Amino acid sequence: MSNDAPVAPSAIAIRLTRLLDAALGEEGRFPVDVVELARAVGSELRLGAKIVEVRAAPDLESFEGGLFQLNDDEWALLYNASLTSPGRIRFTQAHELGHFLVHRQLQDEFHCSQAEVAGYEAERKQMEAEADNFASTLLMPVKQFRAAVAGQAIDLDVLSVVSKKFGVSLTSAALRWIRATDESAVLALSRDGFIDWSVSSDKALRNGAYIKTRNRVVPLPDESLAANAEAESCRLGERLPLKTWFEHAHPDAVVREMKLQCDNYGYTLSLLHLSNGDKVWTPRDWPSA
Ligand SMILES: [Zn+2]
Repeated sequence: MSNDAPVAPSAIAIRLTRLLDAALGEEGRFPVDVVELARAVGSELRLGAKIVEVRAAPDLESFEGGLFQLNDDEWALLYNASLTSPGRIRFTQAHELGHFLVHRQLQDEFHCSQAEVAGYEAERKQMEAEADNFASTLLMPVKQFRAAVAGQAIDLDVLSVVSKKFGVSLTSAALRWIRATDESAVLALSRDGFIDWSVSSDKALRNGAYIKTRNRVVPLPDESLAANAEAESCRLGERLPLKTWFEHAHPDAVVREMKLQCDNYGYTLSLLHLSNGDKVWTPRDWPSA
């Protein structure tokens, strides 16, 4: 690999996946040992640069992780010592490893936090998305991820089992599923009754089922399970009219809404599973009477 060639984040993750599959076997090697990989990758891939230090740092303040150039060819990968969830620590480490592999020629230090992303300019946002893409592909390779969910109707229990296998948070596993699935589904994260962000599967996007949250304040729909403070987490889902979430949906269409209330982190995760054929029409699509 040339030091100067731009590297696609998923391409480098797939290359590492092949090396790890060959060295450790395709199954039984999860969760990925990111620390060991980070220490080895510089010399294994002959990058001319290496990560010599991976450690928890008490002084990262609001940042979850960071990557710092120490000298010409040595880097340190830090993660916030206050992180307690092994899944979040692993994802943060993999994210920083992504910066090292993809972006180290662009900057000599990276301070990363999920909360900061909203304020970043476009170029920085893209780098953060690329590092997340790398982490997701490395920790949950598509082949093994598909095998882990194959033959099962998706729900938050299934995704919880999968998240444990790959050693990531349930949110990371759900995002991976949404991006890989052929089914029609929407994932949304909300706090205090408002939707922070939402991601639709390709099929859902094509069917018009998406929630725009960028630069907008989007309250949870009144009748949704997510908005219902009385409703505890509902991992298997409850069937509701699709119109509850998408006002232009066909009156007969139904959605299965799953809910997970994460009291520790103060957010609610919602997974909406639509029928594959159900389109969320815009009013001009409605057949004229
Ligand atoms: Zn980052």
